[in-house]
Amino acid sequence: MAEVWRFFAHEDDFADIDEAGACERLGRVLSFPTISSMDAEAVDWRPFDDLRAYMQQAWPHVFAAGEVELIDHSLLVTLGGSDSALKPIMLMGHMDVVPVVPGTEADWTHAPFSGHVDDTYIWGRGAIDMKDQVVGILEAVEYALAHGWQHERTLLLAFGQDEETTQYGAGAIGRALEERGIELEYLIDEGDYRIVSAAEYGAGEGWLMHADLAEKGYADIVLKTKSAGGHSSNPYGGTSLEVLSRAITAICDIEWPTRVTDLLAAQLVELGLYTADEIAANGDAIVRDCLASKKLYPLVTTTCAPTQIEGGSTGANVMPQDMWANINFRMLEGTSVADVVARCREAVAGADLAGRVEVELGPGSSEPSPSPRIGGPGLEAVRSIAARYFRDPKETEENGSFEPVAIVPSTVIGATDAANYQHICPECIRFSAFVVDDDECDRGVHGTNERITRRAYLQGIRFLVALLQAL
Ligand SMILES: [Zn+2]
Repeated sequence: MAEVWRFFAHEDDFADIDEAGACERLGRVLSFPTISSMDAEAVDWRPFDDLRAYMQQAWPHVFAAGEVELIDHSLLVTLGGSDSALKPIMLMGHMDVVPVVPGTEADWTHAPFSGHVDDTYIWGRGAIDMKDQVVGILEAVEYALAHGWQHERTLLLAFGQDEETTQYGAGAIGRALEERGIELEYLIDEGDYRIVSAAEYGAGEGWLMHADLAEKGYADIVLKTKSAGGHSSNPYGGTSLEVLSRAITAICDIEWPTRVTDLLAAQLVELGLYTADEIAANGDAIVRDCLASKKLYPLVTTTCAPTQIEGGSTGANVMPQDMWANINFRMLEGTSVADVVARCREAVAGADLAGRVEVELGPGSSEPSPSPRIGGPGLEAVRSIAARYFRDPKETEENGSFEPVAIVPSTVIGATDAANYQHICPECIRFSAFVVDDDECDRGVHGTNERITRRAYLQGIRFLVALLQAL
């Protein structure tokens, strides 16, 4: 049973929000199977066109007041503010979803693209990741406009077409804005969908939400080795499996730089694990502590994960022929894609395998975020508004006082559309006010029975309306 609403406060704000209508509209949006693919040619763009047509009709104030542009299959809506000297802020999200794993359709209580809405939940692929936030943005702006919202600062809405795959759409919008010389004050994209126990960090009691300000880099290294195979009674020179294994081991033994980045320092201070002075004085010891923590270790170094190997022999006495393997890297700020390729080639050469194992960079690499602005106006806005809507449930029950959930600046390990705007935005905040319980997140995101509670959806809309009012 969902109980994420135990964290909610002020659910009576904006009491005239049309709850039933908002939930029905999200259900409708979930019924469009906007599935993206690594191969843009293979995407069926009709559901995207249908979704756009539905949006224009369902949120008429937004599309009447905004200047609407279709950039490739992505959408950019500009709502001009009264003071053009102020840098715009941007709310963003992605309209695409991942497919349902073939064969699991029948495991869904309600079909993944049925858009089913009941008294508690809105069901469907994209309910958490992340049509809830996309549609929640439209609901909030529609509500604000219908209530005579005046704003000095320009607001941009950017909805990408393929965050789950190539992120081409967000890249295209990012380039278009750059060509126009637009710089953003800050942006808010999807973040962690959870309210996390501080105990997960060994940081005592209480609850927190992440505001991710940066992301790690991404690179796949593909190793290939060739062999004619043959009878295993004479493995002269080593089998291709042996050669590949040695190359993988040599790469896994690379020592990557470790350090406490400025962003991690801010995170550790916010968690109350260390003071800024302790971090400045004992950086090496703190790196060692972090390396020993499953939660913190990816935040102090570049990680290396062998993930795939193909081509092994099917016979116990038959040597394998051509084989390949993939190693996935997530780079810490300061280590580039080129560094990863160069150091993997060095490691393979150092193991005397240079002529026997090819080392290539796989598709879809990205550099780690540059150092972000920490504690800027975007983070402060998120913090102050979240403090009104998300509270520590225990504190409230015991003494009637109100302890807000902490907002912790941090780094996201995955890749997001937000990275496509880093060159025009000093504060790219990945934060979701649309929250779900842990088990809903673990099962639903890219999985089966994805759904969000009506109450959580409405609370996210309230957060966004309050954010708009503060512009
Ligand atoms: Zn997403």
